Amino acid sequence: MPKYKLEYIWLDGYTPLASLRSKTQIKEYASFPKLDQLPNWGFDGSSTQQAEGKNSDCILKPVAVYPDITRKDGALVMCEVLMPDHKTPHPSNSRATIPDDPDTWFGFEQEYFFFRDGAPLGFPAGGFPSPQGPYYTGVGYKNVGPVARKLVEEHIDQCIAAGINIEGINAEVAKGQWEFQIFGKGSKSAADQLWAARYILMRLCEPYGVDIELRCKPVLGPFNQALDWNGSGMHTNFSTKHMREVGGKAYFEKLMAAFNEHRDEHIAVYGPENHLRLTGLHETQSIDKFNYGLADRGASVRIPHSFVNNGYKGYLEDRRPNSAADPYLVAGRIIKTIQSVPTS
Ligand code: ADP
Ligand code: MN
Ligand code: MN
Ligand code: MN
Repeated sequence: MPKYKLEYIWLDGYTPLASLRSKTQIKEYASFPKLDQLPNWGFDGSSTQQAEGKNSDCILKPVAVYPDITRKDGALVMCEVLMPDHKTPHPSNSRATIPDDPDTWFGFEQEYFFFRDGAPLGFPAGGFPSPQGPYYTGVGYKNVGPVARKLVEEHIDQCIAAGINIEGINAEVAKGQWEFQIFGKGSKSAADQLWAARYILMRLCEPYGVDIELRCKPVLGPFNQALDWNGSGMHTNFSTKHMREVGGKAYFEKLMAAFNEHRDEHIAVYGPENHLRLTGLHETQSIDKFNYGLADRGASVRIPHSFVNNGYKGYLEDRRPNSAADPYLVAGRIIKTIQSVPTS
């Protein structure tokens, strides 16, 4: 029987920005293991801000498994962290407590920077490249810098091989900034896939001395220190069965009223340091305002043209979540607000 290399992946207990952790377990299976064939496992929570030193065992419970083409007989195993009783979710386990609904679909647009030696890939040492303009969807070394294209291509291939619904990539507005899109049905499945895609990307950059910078506003300066380079978002597109099949202007307006009412609860889980990014500039709305608009990239929620043309049916784009947000919490909060609005 082949010996499978199972990479158990979980989120650590650091705040406000949890990091991915992983370790390998080797086990024999006749063929690629199914989720229910993967045993719980443990780790030392005192090294990940998840336990005190004295009683430091935490439990890893597999929740999703994806083929890993970087290894012969490899698997990526997304896990939840449980307390030693194998039942109680650890306080850092955001996935365990969110509402789910397989008929609510999510499309996450994950923006990020490639970083090398403390600066975005392609920035000259100690300085700044020419201003934003040619980089978004650009081509050529002067626009995309070194190795970025190779990395994003490899990312696509590894995600597809893993069965992760990656829907596209593009170079973004700032130099060294890129985006990929992940689509999934249900808050947990969509966010599992996004976390796994983040993991795949971070890992494949290691041999190049490149890191993935998820913080939403990593580049300041050179003149007005906060304003000159785009921040990174994680626009979250969403649709429920009711939105796709029934919709209507009256329901849409009720839904947006609920988003307005719960603005602060949404912002609370839309990623750290978001006040640096949601400034009203760079295609964002201010953090303390809520609005929506047709094809409006300066709105909190953008309504695609197709939505209005189809009688207020389809999906909406919440532009406020940032690149470092936890997609479990973002998707969970969106479902919670939607569920507070009666459909009739
Ligand atoms: P833009 O950059 O113009 O905002 P993208 O093409 O980057 O848009 O992203 C659009 C996202 O919308 C994709 O992630 C896609 O999966 C998602 N999407 C498309 N249709 C739906 C739908 N019905 N429900 C939820 N998400 C959707
Ligand atoms: Mn996009
Ligand atoms: Mn984008
Ligand atoms: Mn978008």
